[in-house]
Amino acid sequence: MIKKIYKFGGASVKDADAVRNLKNIVAQHKDEDIFLVVSAMGKTTNMLEKALKDFREHDGQLGMEALHDVIAYHDGIIQGLFGKGANPEFEESIANLFIELWEKLQRADQPYDYQYDQTVSYGELISTTIIQEYLNHCEVPCRWLDARKYVLTDERFRSASPDWDETRLRISKLNDEHIHGIVCITQGFIGSTVDGKHTVTLGREGSDYTAAIFANCLDAEEVTIWKDVDGLLNADPKRFDETVQLPHITYSEAIELAFYGASIIHPKTVKPLQNKNITLKVQSFLHPDHAPSVIDGKADRNIERTPSYIVKDNQTLVSISPRDYSFMNEHNLRLIFGACDELNIHANVIQTSALMLSFCFDHDDLRLKGLIAALKESFQVKYNKGLTLFTIRHYDYSYTMGDEFLKGKKILLKQSSRSTLQFVIES
Ligand code: ASP
Ligand code: MG
Repeated sequence: MIKKIYKFGGASVKDADAVRNLKNIVAQHKDEDIFLVVSAMGKTTNMLEKALKDFREHDGQLGMEALHDVIAYHDGIIQGLFGKGANPEFEESIANLFIELWEKLQRADQPYDYQYDQTVSYGELISTTIIQEYLNHCEVPCRWLDARKYVLTDERFRSASPDWDETRLRISKLNDEHIHGIVCITQGFIGSTVDGKHTVTLGREGSDYTAAIFANCLDAEEVTIWKDVDGLLNADPKRFDETVQLPHITYSEAIELAFYGASIIHPKTVKPLQNKNITLKVQSFLHPDHAPSVIDGKADRNIERTPSYIVKDNQTLVSISPRDYSFMNEHNLRLIFGACDELNIHANVIQTSALMLSFCFDHDDLRLKGLIAALKESFQVKYNKGLTLFTIRHYDYSYTMGDEFLKGKKILLKQSSRSTLQFVIES
């Protein structure tokens, strides 16, 4: 039986040293029946998004340059890990992955979301191929699995949802095949349509979700997300000086934090774990001896005593009003949210007045244009880009760090509930 799922994100495999560090962690735990879910290396997903954009919007030359950056970056890591001694078969498989990627990048005739999934998914295919080779090279026996044979989904490209019955059927077999002492590795973020014909992705940062899907279907005991911070903190240490670790939170608190944009875990991750009562740990790959943060179903009154500060950048605030001055009633809300659902727009904070609905969402040019087009007949849509959503959870105790953060910033929207205070501000 596979007992533990380890998820390693981009930062934990961003260069050869990071991969060596991963190997040390895995080697130390290899007899604990672990299963690895790994993201694309470093900022590869962003680099691939750029390459795709360049291939689609500009001439092939610019696209080729962007692709060369991706190749050079991975070559650097391979050199750093194997020097001149890489196995030729492995080198050939990496070269083949890049050739396939290059071919798929040229299919600008395909719809964007579809082509995105066929190309950007290579980040994970390449990273896991390199890491499997390196683990075997270091005598940590490792089996590579193609996540597209296990995570089967609908055809919502760029934000696919699993077909749980099919996915469970495939993944649960891995428990029978499991050999104690052999570590399995698979890709986060990617899957396949049920017919096996098309690659899909689960949405940015989706590797955490992949880890949760495998954990649920394998009935694992726990999932560990290895991060570059000491567990779950009450704010992003890159933005706030005095952060504290949250040693333990409940599943529902984790969902709340992730929903508002705490980048520590993907919002969809918690539900599959909660449903099977699987413990989630957030642990530092830089300080693996530091106690992890633990997320589970056990109630804990201390949770409410530490305010958390969550900053989500790159928000677009839209304000929508009916052209005929009708109220922002249920009928209008249905039209607007129907369009959002069609376009995969997810509202992060919503406010309504008699004549207006305002909400902000993660900026995406195509989705914004789509929304304006879908609503233009009956509604006027105004928008502001480049904003920040700032959320304070459990603000009722004290939130001095919040005052500091808001100082001098223009507030466009403010909303509070008993436990949560939110602001949309100019960045
Ligand atoms: N590589 C993907 C991304 O950067 C998925 C992930 O890392 O979770 O969004
Ligand atoms: Mg991540």
